[in-house]
Amino acid sequence: MPKRVQRLRTKGWRKSKNCVIVSRPSRFDNPCKISLMEEMGYEDPHEAAVGNFKSWLSGSRFDWPTEEGDVRRERILSDLHLLRGMDLACTCPLDRACHADFLIERANLPSEELNDWILRIRVRVDQGRIRDNKEPFHVKEHLFAADDLRIGDMVRLIDGSLVTVLEIQRGDRGELTVNPGAPNQLNGKVWEHVTVIRKISKEQA
Ligand SMILES: [Zn+2]
Repeated sequence: MPKRVQRLRTKGWRKSKNCVIVSRPSRFDNPCKISLMEEMGYEDPHEAAVGNFKSWLSGSRFDWPTEEGDVRRERILSDLHLLRGMDLACTCPLDRACHADFLIERANLPSEELNDWILRIRVRVDQGRIRDNKEPFHVKEHLFAADDLRIGDMVRLIDGSLVTVLEIQRGDRGELTVNPGAPNQLNGKVWEHVTVIRKISKEQA
């Protein structure tokens, strides 16, 4: 099982072959600095920095709603699979909380689960960007027949709100229900076309 190791800044410290450094200046570094959390008076600055890392990497734009923040998050997400099976080295002492533990947990999910998690984060980030009047990263707005809906699409409703398609159910007569049983359920009988925001792959773009 992959584990976290402490990266020492002393001469002669070497990482093993199946180990990736995830502290500064690696791309997997936690942008939330422990020293800042210390300054802000957190009792456990390590814990606070890890908490921020988790919510940021999971798609929250609350603390860092900038282009740089979104680009850095995406860089980690798209390379996360490279960490699978690897030990991760950070400068944090092993008895303190560290963002590397979260990276280990995520990177070693079954690939389908990991991809699904990343897809949901991308949708969340783009929803946040659209709310903040920024170009979404991954999606373009299109008119689709409801029949062509896919998981991960966002449907724009008449009031402008967005519903993410998580499940599609087709009835006997071909009628669609999006997210059956969920609070954001949509019944498709009345749809001719719906405005859908969808991730466009590189080939299609
Ligand atoms: Zn650390």
